[in-house]
Amino acid sequence: MGRLLGPACRNCRREGIKLMLKSIRCETAKCPMEKEYRNNPPGMHMWRRGKEKAYGIRLREKQKVKRYYGVLEKQFRRIFRLAERARANTGVALLCLLERRLDNVLYKAGMMGSRRTARQAIVHGHIRVNGHRVDRPSYLVQTGERVGVRESEKSMKFIREQIGDEGARSPQSWLQVDFKKPEIVVMTLPTRDDVQIPVEEQLIVEFCSR
Ligand code: SF4
Repeated sequence: MGRLLGPACRNCRREGIKLMLKSIRCETAKCPMEKEYRNNPPGMHMWRRGKEKAYGIRLREKQKVKRYYGVLEKQFRRIFRLAERARANTGVALLCLLERRLDNVLYKAGMMGSRRTARQAIVHGHIRVNGHRVDRPSYLVQTGERVGVRESEKSMKFIREQIGDEGARSPQSWLQVDFKKPEIVVMTLPTRDDVQIPVEEQLIVEFCSR
């Protein structure tokens, strides 16, 4: 299974927004995006780079979404092809499909500090969907599905450590979360309003349809 490696904060600095890739650190003053002298694109001689052209602007929008959801180019293209076949607007369908990924659901439900941690929990077999083991972070949840935790001391301990302070978590409206069990019920499929990253999806469609 491919996954994004490398320094997470560099991705945020490149895209110019907080992608929240590092759990608690992202909400503290240690986040480089909170420091004026580091809140700039990585690399030497950034001042030499000229104004971004139409291609660059569209590329940045696509990269932003890929990095936010932690997917590789091949996975992204596969989801884009799925979105193209959807009846809804392709850009909106793309974002809604990415939002339904199992690693994103665990993160948005407030059970995991980051998508990276969620992915680790899934791959290590701690997560169950409708009682069945699912070890693919790219699994797309459906309405009515129940996402739970394997009934073992090790899995419960891992998840409890991740949940931490329940009061600090605010799950999204399309998910119903029971932190005691713990279990997530997918009440409805996500809509464009549930996507929190500021992005112009039409630019991604234009980039991928070249
Ligand atoms: Fe690093 Fe998180 Fe800040 Fe991004 S939001 S720069 S991942 S600490």
